[in-house]
Amino acid sequence: QVVVHLDGVHKEYGDLKALDGVSLEIRAGEAVAVMGPSGCGKSTLLNMVAGLDRPSAGTVRVNGHDLGGLNETGLALFRRRQIGMIFQFFNLLDDLPALDNVALAAQLTGTSAKQARHRALELLDELGIADRRNTYPAALSGGERQRVAVARALMNRPALLLADEPTGALDSRSGEQVMDLLIDLNQIGQTLLIVTHDPKLADRCASRLVEFADGRVARERALGRQA
Ligand code: ADP
Ligand code: ADP
Repeated sequence: QVVVHLDGVHKEYGDLKALDGVSLEIRAGEAVAVMGPSGCGKSTLLNMVAGLDRPSAGTVRVNGHDLGGLNETGLALFRRRQIGMIFQFFNLLDDLPALDNVALAAQLTGTSAKQARHRALELLDELGIADRRNTYPAALSGGERQRVAVARALMNRPALLLADEPTGALDSRSGEQVMDLLIDLNQIGQTLLIVTHDPKLADRCASRLVEFADGRVARERALGRQA
């Protein structure tokens, strides 16, 4: 089963070609790392797959949804139902404790507050931070913040988890814990797309490496962790 299918995707910003004909397929259960120099189009690629931006040409299909056929409302719904995202700087809401940061993701899709909090607590528990549920992001360590962000991303059981430099702001020990968490999630079937500069993250967590250069796929190869 194919989760991500990009076919001939171009993205231009004025004269600048951020993506220059990208075709890429990610199958269910794969963990794919995208690497490449700064400015080569990695974030643009993530934005296309997440439905946060639209290609200038080409098609993007995620879990059977052709994103080109969705209007803004459809894209927002698609994002909430199909995509989980984690970021280098966590993007938690500072004025909500950990549990509410996680629960909000489900309430936004229409789940009742009670059910959302129940599932949020379950996830925090699975990620080993249930005891931090009432703590605000400012009082959490970096590693704890990223685990809260992972719990939030998993709330709606996304078909695809996107990670943008998920260990980039963490010390090496917390970074390794987050890598182990990503590996665990992939081992229970979560499809992952990770953008990173860190070869160690790619090597440890991914089953396939996609090397980007100048808005194109320059090279693809299997990594140690086979899906
Ligand atoms: P990476 O994530 O690999 O560093 P990006 O996808 O962020 O690369 O950027 C690819 C190219 O597109 C860069 O030259 C960048 O400056 C340009 N770019 C990205 N977003 C925009 C935008 N919103 N407007 C104009 N140029 C952009
Ligand atoms: P917006 O105001 O951009 O529509 P949303 O209402 O979609 O934002 O989301 C509210 C909060 O939940 C934001 O902080 C956002 O980062 C987070 N969020 C939304 N969807 C996801 C997701 N799929 N994975 C992780 N965080 C998400």
